[in-house]
Amino acid sequence: MHDLGNKKQKDKEETMSAKHNLIFLGPPGVGKGTIADLISSDTGLIHISTGEIFRNEIKNRTALGIKAEKYVTSGGLVPDNIVAELVCARLAKNDCDNGFIFDGFPRTLPQADIVEKVLSEMGRAVDLVISLEANEELLIQRLTARLTCKKCGINFNKLFAPPKNEGVCDKCGGELYQRVDDSLETALDRIEVYKKETAPLIDYYKKKELLASVSSEQKINKIVQEVMKVIS
Ligand code: AMP
Repeated sequence: MHDLGNKKQKDKEETMSAKHNLIFLGPPGVGKGTIADLISSDTGLIHISTGEIFRNEIKNRTALGIKAEKYVTSGGLVPDNIVAELVCARLAKNDCDNGFIFDGFPRTLPQADIVEKVLSEMGRAVDLVISLEANEELLIQRLTARLTCKKCGINFNKLFAPPKNEGVCDKCGGELYQRVDDSLETALDRIEVYKKETAPLIDYYKKKELLASVSSEQKINKIVQEVMKVIS
């Protein structure tokens, strides 16, 4: 009885101390979206991909989508004020109350300031930043062989994780396509943009003692295991 009581107390403490407000940082092709999807299914944390939100807005021809389109298709960054507006609106929805995983945001130092400001206004803060890392050759291989579902947005890979049926999403049956920004030329540009604009965030979060690094040069289940270990 006493042991059971201790165990319950320990489980409760672990749940309370688990990290809820997460940022996944890393270059394009490192697997942020794929890993965030899996961690989200395991934990219930809400996966917020700014890139995916932009792709949907572009598909639906909304005012935001039309503003963002030229940046997204060329591999450049959407201006910080547009991203900030989108993220504030997303965080205001109450499904985020129990925690979230930012995938692809923040991507610049001014965006990191925006995160801090918006969360502190909500009485919250970033709990942990996970930096996913892989060598550049692997990133390019992954990006140029990536297939994305038109309907639900999840990723497959012709080389590393092909769908069961060619051209069809395993999860929702949607049609798979290659993102325009996954062409070799644009993928290379995106990696350069990452190095210049986003990589400085690694040091920024290291100094704040919020950073944990995980290699993404390993099997997906191993990456998920390591991420689960650092967030729990
Ligand atoms: P992703 O799906 O994260 O690779 O993002 C695809 C594209 O959306 C990027 O290349 C940018 O054009 C745009 N994007 C996504 N997130 C951001 C962000 N936080 N800041 C600026 N642009 C972004």
